[in-house]
Amino acid sequence: MRQTLHTQRRLCDGSNMIKSVDLQSEFSEISEQIRDAVDRVLESGWFILGDESEAFEKEFADYIGAGYGIAVGSGSDALYLTLRALGIGEGDEVITVSHTFISTVDAIVRNRARPVLVDVDAETYCIDASQIESKINHRTRMILPVHLYGHPAQMDEIATIAAKHDLVVVEDACQAHGAEYKGHKVGAMATAGCFSFYPSKNLGAYGDGGMIVTDSKELAEKLRLLRNYGQAKKYHHDLVGTNSRLDEIQAAVLRVKLGHLDAWNERRRELASLYNELLADSPAAGPIEKDYAKHVYHQYVIRSDRRDALQQHLQKNQIQTLIHYPISVHRQKAYQNLADGASLTVTDEICDQVLSLPLYPTLTEDHVRNVAAEVKKCL
Ligand SMILES: *Cc1c(COP(=O)(O)O)cnc(C)c1O
Repeated sequence: MRQTLHTQRRLCDGSNMIKSVDLQSEFSEISEQIRDAVDRVLESGWFILGDESEAFEKEFADYIGAGYGIAVGSGSDALYLTLRALGIGEGDEVITVSHTFISTVDAIVRNRARPVLVDVDAETYCIDASQIESKINHRTRMILPVHLYGHPAQMDEIATIAAKHDLVVVEDACQAHGAEYKGHKVGAMATAGCFSFYPSKNLGAYGDGGMIVTDSKELAEKLRLLRNYGQAKKYHHDLVGTNSRLDEIQAAVLRVKLGHLDAWNERRRELASLYNELLADSPAAGPIEKDYAKHVYHQYVIRSDRRDALQQHLQKNQIQTLIHYPISVHRQKAYQNLADGASLTVTDEICDQVLSLPLYPTLTEDHVRNVAAEVKKCL
């Protein structure tokens, strides 16, 4: 069914392009369920903070293994509001990475705190836990690891350091829905976990969305106020809040998609191991899944010194690829003064080498073979 629909669509638009993400083929697999869910909301006449978002908060928190879920407008807001609810502010320092999406660091700066950037591990692309302690001082309040590309950060090492120095840990799990660290789902391994439902994420809405999961009732209650104008009761504003909610239509869509997440992640893992097998004798370095990890391959990232030539070769052969990320945070114009120059060696090195090959649940094995063959032809 999957391949038939996909092939039909490709014949229809006359293109043989292998896209870097393909949300249309995913939709064609679940369109009936989605239309039913959207209809249910349209007919209910209730669009903000209702049964769908409440049910989805419970279902997603249960899935991750956390006590509470608080749905918000985006992954960026999940991070920003969590730091705000935890009292991160002026004079505080938060330790995180530069090799990430910009929102991780924005969340710190939007709260007027100072990001302190640590290098990443050259195998997992997540924070190098062995370099955290040297960055801790009396202003340090939090460690904010990112489970980048769907691979978990070293949570035990991070928890040990945090306990020793009395720091809070918040997980940026925006790329890691369903990923596991030593058998536990990420997002439920710290004070709070932040998720994004941006359309191309492993669990994506048809618009923006995000969620915070936590075991702390107090934090959950504060976040519920902050996302809804600080309002405890209609027109009673206990805190200075904002408007950041997941609307009912997106929540209904996400409830349908959550039911497919495990199968989709398994499919990503199968396709990733096929890539691994086919590229084993290529000079490009493939992704590594540590023995403590269950990787969910939000991205399948390879590294090559000839990255730009490879990307051009693939483009010429109808294969779209992406770079995550072409400019690390401390090299961005907005964040020029953040790093102390030489310390982010791996971050600076991999920036010119990483390339994300097409990987999504509706990709076919033939596509993977085609991509791998072109990679090997070029390198
Ligand atoms: C996607 C993403 C975010 C931001 O999520 P949005 O929903 O796009 O605001 C934050 N951090 C990481 C690591 C992400 O990949």
